[in-house]
Amino acid sequence: MESRWYDRDASAAIDRWGERYGRDLALRAYSSQLIGVEPDLVLHGGGNTSLKALTKNIFDEEIPALFIKGSGIDLATIQPDGFAALDLDPLKRLRNLCALSEADMSNQLWLHRLNPAAPSPSVETLLHVFLPHRFIDHSHADALLCLSNQPEGETLLREAVGDAVTILPYIMPGFPLAMQVALAFEKRPNVTGIIVAHHGLFTFYDDARTAYENHIAIVSACERFLKARRPKCLLTPAYRTEESAGRLAARIAPVLRGLLAKPSGDPDAPHRRLLLDWRADEEVLSFVNSQEAAALSVAGPLTPDHVTRTKPFALFVAGPLPEVSEGLRAHLKQAVTDYVARYEAYVSRHTASKSLGGSRLDPLPRVVLIPGAGAFCFGRTKREAVVAADITVHTLRIKALAHAMGGYKPASDEHVCELEYWNLQQAKLGSEADHLLDGQVVLVTGGAGAIGYGIVKTCMEAGAHVVLTDVDSVRLEHVTQRLEAAHGRGKARGVVMDVTDEASVQAGFAEACRHYGGVDVIVPNAGIAHVAQVADLKTADLERVMAVNFLGTFLTIREGVRVLRAQGLGGNIVINASKNVFGPGKDFGAYSSSKAAGHQLGKVAAIELAAEEIRVNMINADAIFSEDEVASGLWATVGPERAKSRGLKLDELPDYYRSRNLLRARVTARHVGNAVVFFACNRTPTTGATLPVDGGVVEAFPR
Ligand code: ZN
Repeated sequence: MESRWYDRDASAAIDRWGERYGRDLALRAYSSQLIGVEPDLVLHGGGNTSLKALTKNIFDEEIPALFIKGSGIDLATIQPDGFAALDLDPLKRLRNLCALSEADMSNQLWLHRLNPAAPSPSVETLLHVFLPHRFIDHSHADALLCLSNQPEGETLLREAVGDAVTILPYIMPGFPLAMQVALAFEKRPNVTGIIVAHHGLFTFYDDARTAYENHIAIVSACERFLKARRPKCLLTPAYRTEESAGRLAARIAPVLRGLLAKPSGDPDAPHRRLLLDWRADEEVLSFVNSQEAAALSVAGPLTPDHVTRTKPFALFVAGPLPEVSEGLRAHLKQAVTDYVARYEAYVSRHTASKSLGGSRLDPLPRVVLIPGAGAFCFGRTKREAVVAADITVHTLRIKALAHAMGGYKPASDEHVCELEYWNLQQAKLGSEADHLLDGQVVLVTGGAGAIGYGIVKTCMEAGAHVVLTDVDSVRLEHVTQRLEAAHGRGKARGVVMDVTDEASVQAGFAEACRHYGGVDVIVPNAGIAHVAQVADLKTADLERVMAVNFLGTFLTIREGVRVLRAQGLGGNIVINASKNVFGPGKDFGAYSSSKAAGHQLGKVAAIELAAEEIRVNMINADAIFSEDEVASGLWATVGPERAKSRGLKLDELPDYYRSRNLLRARVTARHVGNAVVFFACNRTPTTGATLPVDGGVVEAFPR
């Protein structure tokens, strides 16, 4: 690992932030990012950094402050406002105490914040308080953990880093670790860093560059040591399968997602679903296919800090997996049941003598490793799942290497459990979000068109993750980017899919399963129009319209139901039908009959699927022209003709339609989206129903 420090970049950071935040905090943010961008040092919110500097209080007096990374904030992207400022002097006095409870420590950290609007300070704040240095850098470097997590860990570390670094055994974070690190420093004040076994490295200095470069030097020494001793072959291959990992994953993911949903306690929406991030690169596959995988999977995490994201151990599902879906479900269900028993035993073993901090956590795995298929990592959002997956990829890599060198020996289960049930650790995850569609995946066909885009956008605002499918890859790309920019990375996935092609629909749903783990709400929305009187309608035109509007609806529902059944969590199908189903108009025979067929199909599906808690409802919308800058393809087809026949200009059509409905409402794609959200969140026990979204058109009242 090389130093990424460049004076030019450091000056640029001062230019950018110095005036507002001061030179030191600008440099603090700069070198924190240098640590953050190195995934072999820290992953997603791991590690922390601090600065001690003077700041002004309300009386314009200078007081010493500690600027410490906010809990859960990512070092890679941290800015000066990602640091919490604390009143340093009263916190220093805490060193005089013999012990400090978790609650008291939290209280003190709250009490001495200089800006309550800043993020919560890191749980390792007191360690930064008790060391005297102005700049302190802390990481959970892979290379160091690889050495530390071996039976002779301390000896190996000592050989690798030499005498200029103090090495401490694992100590619980918070007050105990802060005290021990401060004492160790005072005993040997000339060291360049302190390593805490099974945890990480702290370096410190009075200038940003030296603190950072000492950090890199120590980690590099560990890396060189590992490189020189790395065995040629790390694991013994033991498993082969004919089926590709991608195909297997598409079969496995929805079943697993169903098994890992927690009861929510809400009878109308009884499941709290998780999102998947699936990994199966060569390194992951060679791990899961190895003889050693079963034993290494259940060994503890690289550092107890990871427990919040990955649970204390992974679920390893031994292959081969049954081909048929019922057999597959039974096999996976047994594996999850065994995991739960193992987890419960681990918690009971290590918490019997003490009371649990907070309530008991759910016993379900977050990481599932399957031979031939890879790593299935889960979180409450895609983002959380990605974090768990990134940690897992590093974990498998380091476990394999440590095992091959001399054995993998992580921190004890007792230490891991203690940290898992530390409230401050759980707080890093943040509270459960509270939107109507949290945890749900909504798949919308024709997602890049005006109505599809409006539906997708509204569902995302209600907390959903979305898969938008479309035949037009360029539009799809454009719309997906727009959505991600507005709602955060990972929340939308564009999939090119032709609803008229069976294989394409299957492939689209398979992709949704690999990407998010499955789907919960299916919205057949893709549609095209054709203007012709029945007497003049060409067979080919009718067939084309029927293929998209009716066959497309059918194929989407059929494939969607397969996924919903694999999950076993019920679900919603919401068909975007049309006002024309009840209120037809002339020249629109192909469109109206295709929509009426899809509408009828929905009613039949509602009858057939109710026993499985799958609801099917229809939306009859009318006259939607565009959503943001996404124009309606349908109105591009029929608009000019309609305008002409009514003696209007094209841009007068929206007002014309508006004047036609009872509420004089301009109907938007967002209104259709609201109707989808209403059905998708199960607030009423409704299936087989039609909801008009048309401003009130008497001839189209449902009957
Ligand atoms: Zn740490």
